[in-house]
Amino acid sequence: MKTGPLYGIIANSKTRMRCVFCGVYIPKANKCIEEHTNGTKHKENIDQMAENGMIYNNEELYCKPCNVNLTEEESVASHIESDDHANWMAAVDNLIEGEFINVDSYLASESEDVYCEVCNCNINCSLQNIETHVNDILHRSNVAEKLKPLNGIFRVENDDELWCKLCDEYIENTAKSVLEHIDDSPEHVEWFIDIEDLIDGQEVSIQDFLKDEHEKNAFCNKCQVEIVCNARSIEDHVHSEAHLNQFS
Ligand SMILES: [Zn+2]
Ligand SMILES: [Zn+2]
Ligand SMILES: [Zn+2]
Ligand SMILES: [Zn+2]
Ligand SMILES: [Zn+2]
Repeated sequence: MKTGPLYGIIANSKTRMRCVFCGVYIPKANKCIEEHTNGTKHKENIDQMAENGMIYNNEELYCKPCNVNLTEEESVASHIESDDHANWMAAVDNLIEGEFINVDSYLASESEDVYCEVCNCNINCSLQNIETHVNDILHRSNVAEKLKPLNGIFRVENDDELWCKLCDEYIENTAKSVLEHIDDSPEHVEWFIDIEDLIDGQEVSIQDFLKDEHEKNAFCNKCQVEIVCNARSIEDHVHSEAHLNQFS
């Protein structure tokens, strides 16, 4: 991104300049301009643009999600707080939550598309297109495939069923039942809440346990030891003297 001294700063009258990003006026003097463009607020606004799909073009700020040019009364901050913009951002967050869809490059204006990591495809960015994509049966089954090894769900000999290691329970081998199990089965959900709560900030990894059907242990990277992967022994371990006194 271009960020020269006059990036975002335009002439407003003979004696003052306007910062398009911050929506403020600055005396037309190099020192004042420099001070402004080195300021925290100005830099924050530039960062915010890249997180909100806003582009500086022809001395104007354009918001891609809202498809509007900002007026002289607006600034990056005031636009981000506007209902239209905030609603769009909330709607997109809501649509992509847990869907492995990445909107960062769209918002940073590096692309017009969002990227679906599980389908390995680009989607032209609109709420409608994203909604259609996340409801697509192929996408749903790719999400289910992606989630199995993160959730201790394994194939069994009989192709009609899958086995959840965490719940020791058989589930139907369909994307729908996998996703329902992961999201809604109380036992499954609670297992994650309990364990994640215990290992939070403790350098204990459960990835291998989840990925490998035969692995019985979690691993403490701090102590370099295996721990039987259940809430009780993880709790004992993270509270043990050995763990607490270990320097990582
Ligand atoms: Zn500024
Ligand atoms: Zn907007
Ligand atoms: Zn997809
Ligand atoms: Zn389960
Ligand atoms: Zn440890």
